[in-house]
Amino acid sequence: MRSIVYYVREFLRPEWLRKFVSVKTAPLKTPSYSKGYPSLTGRECTACFSCMMICPAPGAIAVLQRKEGWEPEIYPGHCIRCGLCVEACPEDVLTSGRILDVTRRDNTAFASSYHLEVDDSLCMRCGNCCVSCPVNRQIDPQLAGSGTSASDEVIMRVEGGRVRILHPEKCTGCKTCETHCPNRAIRVARLVEGVQGGEAEA
Ligand code: SF4
Ligand code: SF4
Ligand code: SF4
Repeated sequence: MRSIVYYVREFLRPEWLRKFVSVKTAPLKTPSYSKGYPSLTGRECTACFSCMMICPAPGAIAVLQRKEGWEPEIYPGHCIRCGLCVEACPEDVLTSGRILDVTRRDNTAFASSYHLEVDDSLCMRCGNCCVSCPVNRQIDPQLAGSGTSASDEVIMRVEGGRVRILHPEKCTGCKTCETHCPNRAIRVARLVEGVQGGEAEA
């Protein structure tokens, strides 16, 4: 009973009431280093569905038939802005979307890359990361069916009983591999390099 009286007294304090009715949460802002959602360039879509096939986020993109022809539609509530659809489209129908290629602020150029690391003590060589990676699947469609790849162009593959990273520079940081690893053995880290007065390469 004493505690109820205490709380009622506390909540009726003018200072608390004023804060309760007037406090405002700062609106959510997209950080300056993030790029926007993919948008249309106006070029003609040929309905090859590459963008939909490579998208790792369920429900983020759909290619719809309109009166004027086919057109991809982005659903921002689902899109994770990985930009894979932009890269996959052979017709340049989509633009932007890739997060933090290079941005410039206060005379400093910030460029990003992704670092992939596999903890061999946790990895069980199941190959889930290699198969789930949308970039890997795009480079070597055989990979999804067979689980292995003979291509030297993939980001990573199981080789000699270990996951070997071949092309980390092709990683888009979508983290699909992390999500699909049953042992949390693979980690994707975003590295940001700032060059003052520099012209970092995109
Ligand atoms: S940016 Fe990524 S998540 Fe968004 S629609 Fe394109 S592929 Fe899907
Ligand atoms: S937007 Fe590009 S990738 Fe998607 S269906 Fe159209 S042509 Fe293919
Ligand atoms: S984060 Fe993982 S799944 Fe995504 S592109 Fe990079 S290696 Fe592939």
